[in-house]
Amino acid sequence: MLVAAELKNLLEPSQLTDLDITWLGADQPTPRGEWVAIVPLLTRWVGGTELKNLPKLSIVANCAVGYNNVDVVAAEMRKVIVTNTPGVLTEATADLTWALILATARRLTEGVDLVRSGTWTGWQPEQLLGLELRGRTLGLFGAGRIGQAVGRRAPPFGLRLLYTARTPKPEFERETGALRVDASELLGESDILSLHLPASPETKGMINGETLTRMKRGAILINTSRGDLIREEALAQALELGHLGAAGLDVYTNEPTIHPRLLAAPRTVLLPHIGSATEETRRKMAAIAVANVQAVLSGKPPLTPVFR
Ligand code: NAP
Repeated sequence: MLVAAELKNLLEPSQLTDLDITWLGADQPTPRGEWVAIVPLLTRWVGGTELKNLPKLSIVANCAVGYNNVDVVAAEMRKVIVTNTPGVLTEATADLTWALILATARRLTEGVDLVRSGTWTGWQPEQLLGLELRGRTLGLFGAGRIGQAVGRRAPPFGLRLLYTARTPKPEFERETGALRVDASELLGESDILSLHLPASPETKGMINGETLTRMKRGAILINTSRGDLIREEALAQALELGHLGAAGLDVYTNEPTIHPRLLAAPRTVLLPHIGSATEETRRKMAAIAVANVQAVLSGKPPLTPVFR
């Protein structure tokens, strides 16, 4: 099997017994050959060409919950199983989402820059005034595992919770007091809008010039989902014009390149796609990916298949 070489340190030797592994570095192209399984990072595209070049492949065990780097239709046509790593990264990603909410609302990176610049002249009543969370509205665009975990952290901050999802979440509503609304109401009502939808043809570019103008003036946009959801140039413009108050982003359309206008825009907190980056979580992700391969190769059903 082919396994991303960058996962080596996160896997115990005992998890790899009886597996014949070829380690594949992120900078190496996907090879042609007789491998029966591949465990790619989310940065590796596995599409029609790659699948054709691996004719014996039974499984693509993606080491991420998002699987927009895999052509699932092409895989299905070739009867190749696709799996992901849901659940284990939910809490770590929800924590990082909150790090971005607090960092943008309270202008943390601007404060750090001011202190480090040596130009801070001391406490001032109107210095770096941010957004008070209590009484404000947090909108969750997508309320699956991560969206709900973000929402469950909201009540102690005194935030009102709104969410948009295809299906109602009664248990989540009971637990948090969240209210399900349509996308239009979510855009118009949220002081902080946090995106938790997968990247798909339906969600691509859903935050664009038009939807941004429907957001409240001064609102904060958070994205720890996938970069494809946002038209980055439109977001940069909304920040330049002061229509949006701030943006906290962990993901981008064309990683690791960030749109130059977005990079230069004011009031952003930009992170390098570290939503799930805790040691425990990354170990669990690697373990699930390999366990999926072991299950499929021994004729059992995959543990966490991707359903379309
Ligand atoms: P999930 O449990 O599948 O939740 C996805 C949510 O999106 C659900 O509420 C679903 O609605 C909604 N949804 C899906 N397609 C939609 C559509 N076309 N229109 C409207 N709503 C739609 O996924 P998750 O585990 O929370 O993960 C969410 C995403 O986070 C992943 O896809 C991944 O890309 C991203 N992620 C990023 C990081 C990072 O490092 N920054 C880490 C982990 C995950 P229903 O519930 O009604 O079906």
